[in-house]
Amino acid sequence: MLWPNARIRHPRNVEIQKQVAAVRRDNPESAAWLGLLDAALGESENGAMWDAAVPTPASERPIKAPVLSQTEITIDARAARSWVRRLLTLIPTVNPRRIDGLALLEAAVCHDDVRIDALAAAGGVEPHALRVLGQMAALPLLQACARGLASALPATWWEGYCPVCGAWPVVAEYTGLERKRQLRCGRCGTGWAIPLLRCVFCDETDHDKLGYLTPEAGEQTRKIEVCHSCKGYVKGFTTVRALAPWAILLDDLTTVPLDVAALERGYHRPPRPGYALEASITERGPVGGWWRLWRMVEVVTKQPPPTSTNLQNLRQPPPGGAA
Ligand SMILES: [Zn+2]
Ligand SMILES: [Zn+2]
Repeated sequence: MLWPNARIRHPRNVEIQKQVAAVRRDNPESAAWLGLLDAALGESENGAMWDAAVPTPASERPIKAPVLSQTEITIDARAARSWVRRLLTLIPTVNPRRIDGLALLEAAVCHDDVRIDALAAAGGVEPHALRVLGQMAALPLLQACARGLASALPATWWEGYCPVCGAWPVVAEYTGLERKRQLRCGRCGTGWAIPLLRCVFCDETDHDKLGYLTPEAGEQTRKIEVCHSCKGYVKGFTTVRALAPWAILLDDLTTVPLDVAALERGYHRPPRPGYALEASITERGPVGGWWRLWRMVEVVTKQPPPTSTNLQNLRQPPPGGAA
């Protein structure tokens, strides 16, 4: 009998491959980053293992907490470690055995750069490289969570950060004839609508404090939304159809000149995540595996020796029925 295997590779989505190839051709300087993203998108398409790891939302979480906040994510540890190791081998200077794959995955899901930097120091890796790699490693899990938890999202979400994973949006999309403003998360791909005139980062609503920068010529569909109160910025994009979750980070890369323009004018992206998730990742043990055998041996050897009292129940009545 053939058992379903979560690790069987499926043919890649041709559209994704075409777009990655086009972006790679036009941005040769980003080849290393694109290599990581391409691997993460491929792993994401291969999603059975990640779909199985989608957790149940914590019932006691605060009202403004994203659905992944305080969740316990139980994962196929062997497959997850092997995935992170595969990604680590794409950075030539890294020894994958010196990085704890599950710890990196958990820190990246929680957007905990302090923990990622500690892992980088322990593994002798450049911290910024490991931060980027960690986010790519978490992408398949976070995208599976966005798919699996879509029905658990609150009907309305007024925060600037992602209702699933707590990240700040990568882009504000204006879609359809009404040009409805929808924020998009680059990690899990979730989109959520918030009012037009409101800063994503500090909730500023004063019209005089909000504005936008537009490219001098050409591109009419792009702008940069800026806030004079917190000096934050987010890129805006007018489009007929919302970007697919996998296309958001590719779009982000191809619009880097807009980021440069915003930074040159003194605007920035907050260094901290919108919401610290405090989620945990634990291993799913192999049912009936060696650890279970070990536990049984441990339990048996720690039992006190049988006494005459607890042996009584085991005695067979003598033949003839007399006690
Ligand atoms: Zn998200
Ligand atoms: Zn602001």
